[in-house]
Order: sequence, then structure tokens, then C-alpha cells
Amino acid sequence: MVEYQKILDKIYSDLKKTKDHGEVAAYIPELKNVDPDKFGMYLNRLHGDNFYVGDWNESFSIQSISKVFTLGKAMSLIGNDVWKRVDVEPSGNPFNYLALLEQEEGIPRNPLINSGAIVMADILVSELDDPKKDFLQFVRNIANDESIIYNEKVAISEAKTGFTNYAIANLLKSFDNLHNDVETVMDFYFHQCSLEMTCEQLSNSFYLFANRGKCQRNCEYLTLNQIKRINAILLTCGFYDEAGEFAFEVGLPGKSGVGGGIVALLPNEFTLTCWSPGLNPKGNSYLGMKALEAFTTATNLSIF
Ligand code: GLN
Repeated sequence: MVEYQKILDKIYSDLKKTKDHGEVAAYIPELKNVDPDKFGMYLNRLHGDNFYVGDWNESFSIQSISKVFTLGKAMSLIGNDVWKRVDVEPSGNPFNYLALLEQEEGIPRNPLINSGAIVMADILVSELDDPKKDFLQFVRNIANDESIIYNEKVAISEAKTGFTNYAIANLLKSFDNLHNDVETVMDFYFHQCSLEMTCEQLSNSFYLFANRGKCQRNCEYLTLNQIKRINAILLTCGFYDEAGEFAFEVGLPGKSGVGGGIVALLPNEFTLTCWSPGLNPKGNSYLGMKALEAFTTATNLSIF
């Protein structure tokens, strides 16, 4: 019998003691105000009790983790047509990299780098009746939690400084891979990134990806085949130019965001969210990476 609570408590107390917690993202001004000492974890087990530690019940900005939700929603709406507009190769580059787009004639390397996620945002803007409202409802449904909200301040703050993201959208537009106007798509993108969720809510929402496409309330949103593809993309592209390192150290599909959140999952077993706002130089949570490595090492639970 694995003693999950003991394992989480030990990871928490060991990491809390360490001096280096990384740097809080400063390029989105509103995120600079987050307390760098926050640290929480929430483990949602598909066939057993859940366990948690630290600041697991505090909301934070999920940022790029939202790209998994937009990918899932886009796949549920237009199926394989998604792959006409993005590729599925790891980029080996930072999340906001522009150059590849030019080499590849406006087809982003994958849906989890910013360029690919902006194309997913464009699909949702085209397909949904009331895009921001309908997307928020989708996230609330899969998390089984109506209290999830966008943080308008964070969305506005990012829009004010989002020059590189606007440049990406304009480049996509010039290659005819953005079908709506840049301003509307970017407003949607900055809102999806501004979603505020707790570790518990994130673990609950990723249940669907661990549980063969069925979320906790048993609403069925994605097919088994789509789940297989999403998890493959999480494993190969979820951490940008640190995806190899994450597979090597942790061995789980997962996704990070510059708000300091990381969600990882073992299909059919669990989802696990860590939150610590300090980032490493690649833009992934410094302690979150260490916490997940410690968890899979202590439990021997990984996909390998
Ligand atoms: N909103 C952020 C951006 O576009 C998301 C980046 C991230 O979390 N890696 O820059």
C-alpha cells in the first residue's frame, strides 16, 4: 500500500526547506504580485482516495495549461481537421518562438506552443457561439466546478505587454492560418490564459485525460482515440524545450504554465497538480518539476 499522504508531506517539507525557488514570471506584470513561497499539490486518484498538501486550495493563473483545454475542445468540435492547421512535432524551442512559423509556412509545430495555441483559439472563435462564455463553461463542466473564472486583470495585463503574441498572430494571419481578426483571437487567447484554478480544480479537470475521455461527472467529451493523441502531445510537447527533461526526470504526460502550475497524469491511475510560482530558466515551475520527480521516484508510478 503506497502511503500517498506521507510521500506528499515529505516532498512538501523537503522542498519548502530549499533556498532556490526560481523566479516568478515578470513579463506579465500582474503575475509579479504572486507570493513566490506558495506551494501546493493535489493528487486525484481514479480508483481511490485523493491526497493534498500545502496551498492546494488557492487559485492561481493557469496560463499555458489552458492550451490543453482549447486543444481538447477544438478536437471535439472539428475532429481531425485540427491537424490541417497545426503539426504534432516537439519544437525544442521556447513557448513564444516565432521563427519556426516562417520556415513552416504558417503551420505551428504543435498545439501547445503559443503559435499552435493561437490557432486553436482561432478555431474556437470560429466554432463557438459565444466563444469566451462557452469555453469557460466547457472548463467548468470538465472540472465539475461552476466557480472557475477568468481573471480580467491578468488578461488585460497580458494584452498590454503581449507584443510577441500579437506578432505570432499577425504572422499566422499573413500565412492565412488565422481566420478571424487578430484582436478577437488574442482577446480570447489572453482570457483562456487568465483562467484561475486551484490544484484541486486542475486535477479534477484533467481527470478526463486520465480516464479515457470521461470526466468525473461522467460527461463524455472526447473519444479514446482523441485522448491517446492528447496524451502523446502532452508527453512530447508539454514542456517546450524541456519536454525531454520532464520525460526523463518525471516520466508522465503533463503541461506547465508560467503561473507556476504543472499538471501531470498517469492514464487510468491519477492526475497530479503542483503549484509553485517560481520558474526555472525554461519557464517551467522550478519546485514543481522537482516535486513531480520526487513523487514518481518515491511511488515508482510513471508510464515507463
Ligand atoms: N500567456 C502566456 C504567454 O502567452 C502563456 C505562456 C506559458 O504559460 N508558458 O506568454
